[in-house]
Amino acid sequence: MSTSLASASASAEVDVEGIRRQWLALRPPYCIEDRRLPLPVWARRGFTDTGEQAWAALRQDASRIELTRPFCIYVHIPFCANRCSFCDCYSFPLLQYRARHVEGYLALLAQEMRLWSGLGTLAHRPVSTVHFGGGTPTFLGEEPFARLVQDIRENFSTGPQTEWALESTSSELTPGIVSALHRLGFTRLHVGVQSLQDDVRRTIHRREDAATVLDKIAAAVSLGWIVSVDLILGLPGQTLAGALADVHALETVGVDGFSLYELQLSSRNRRFAEQYGLAGRQRLANYLLTQAASRLLISLGYRKTLFNHLARARDTNLYFTFPERGEDCLALGTIADGVFGDYHYRHPEYKAYCQSVTPAFPGLQGGLRRNALENQLHSLEVALLSARIPPGLFADVLGQERAEVLFRRWQESALVESISPADPCSNLRLTGNGSWFISHMMAELAVP
Ligand code: SF4
Repeated sequence: MSTSLASASASAEVDVEGIRRQWLALRPPYCIEDRRLPLPVWARRGFTDTGEQAWAALRQDASRIELTRPFCIYVHIPFCANRCSFCDCYSFPLLQYRARHVEGYLALLAQEMRLWSGLGTLAHRPVSTVHFGGGTPTFLGEEPFARLVQDIRENFSTGPQTEWALESTSSELTPGIVSALHRLGFTRLHVGVQSLQDDVRRTIHRREDAATVLDKIAAAVSLGWIVSVDLILGLPGQTLAGALADVHALETVGVDGFSLYELQLSSRNRRFAEQYGLAGRQRLANYLLTQAASRLLISLGYRKTLFNHLARARDTNLYFTFPERGEDCLALGTIADGVFGDYHYRHPEYKAYCQSVTPAFPGLQGGLRRNALENQLHSLEVALLSARIPPGLFADVLGQERAEVLFRRWQESALVESISPADPCSNLRLTGNGSWFISHMMAELAVP
């Protein structure tokens, strides 16, 4: 991978000296190679309750939640037309029996919705956003997808305030589907672009070339969609110049938000990792690519709204920012995880999900309640993930002395910086280093 920050084109595009200074500022325990993504609470310490116990706890909690309190809905669709070799998402292709699986899955989701909408006041509480992820939600097909949307409308209080959003891959975005979704009320589209370099796209078996992808995004933007994209950094053959060119091309066609991901390696893409020798990879190149893309976006007027998402004001990204607004999340479908108050739950993988949903049980795998310490630190974790760090909040929760120790360490390693350098008491924000080491920072909150 060619990522020399000294190259003339990179120097002209991004603040190379700034990236170098930020990198050199890093002190132990912050090691570039030791990057981890933040984990939800259930993944950190496992479930304490079975699925049945979780459902009982949620039913009991639901009766206590106010009618006016908004919540968001996430629906996981685990199907794709093909399995992309690099992908570590939970999804699979339906090579045969497609219609049977699609209809069966929609029936289970409808069953779940009927149960959830009977829970306390949930059917009457305002829905801030409905977000479909996957997988490729549009793989369901136009008519089944429209039925799913109708089911949600019938079971919950969606309205003019609700943002309808979905994730997709560009090859599924035919003009007909994009128009149909827009007519259904969808306004936000998150496209898994990953890379616009045609040689890289061929490596990851993307069927469309960059020009086609850009044309499709431009068409969606012209219909009034808010479009955000995933870019993956660390793909085989990717170059710094290519990554920066991708950002420019997408900005030019009107993309409002960018999620920057390092290529994640897991059992789901092990063969791809082995094929391209990524298993023992050095991550410095990925770090440099991420910092350069992030800085370029900031110079183009995008702002960090999550630790890994940069957006213009139009891209409110309501699903990923629900914790910042203190909302609950009703998650539907296989592997989807949701939260009500301080109670977190998750659904199992596809086969177990299909076997466990009944007219009396929404097929939960397990659940757990945040403990006292997790509740105490929750607002701080949310602030870090949101990339906005009010010092007063940290001092209130951790005490002035402990907050100052943490801030000093984070500032020494350039993980945070003051929004207003002239005012050291102003709010802090995550730097590129902070985004890279977000899980380290979250873990440090709990260290006495
Ligand atoms: S990258 Fe997207 S389209 Fe490809 S397998 Fe993963 S979720 Fe499906």
